[in-house]
Amino acid sequence: MRCPACSSVEDKVVDSRLADDGLAIRRRRECLECGRRFTTFERVEEAALVVLKRSGGREAFIRAKLAAGIRSAAKNRPVGAEAVEALAAEIEESLRLEGPELTSATIGLRVLERLRAVDEVAYVRFASVYKGFEAPGDFAREIGLLTKRDDERQ
Ligand SMILES: [Zn+2]
Repeated sequence: MRCPACSSVEDKVVDSRLADDGLAIRRRRECLECGRRFTTFERVEEAALVVLKRSGGREAFIRAKLAAGIRSAAKNRPVGAEAVEALAAEIEESLRLEGPELTSATIGLRVLERLRAVDEVAYVRFASVYKGFEAPGDFAREIGLLTKRDDERQ
């Protein structure tokens, strides 16, 4: 990176950290020629997916985080690690078509749609986290909805 003081392109990175809620990497560099320190920001060229959180905050979409959520919902269920990864990848692809900014509610719903076709127990578990179930009645209601939709499909 060209030094703003002496135009040398020889530098070393002295510090590197995440910036902009993980959407960028901030690097502190030092010119090897004149010792001037300057900062660069590195971003993914592909438009990053941004999650608009319920709290009003924004953060980078991280597929591994989504996969972890699905994995935990599918724990002890006949849904293999590869299926979880494939599901996360598939969901990310569909989100990218809508992006670049999506609410966490939209993402949660997309997961629910896909997960339901894979495993209904994992679906209900994910729904319980996503919808913030607090009482056993919440589960009963969700399962009632599942059953009802099944009836409608027949
Ligand atoms: Zn320099």
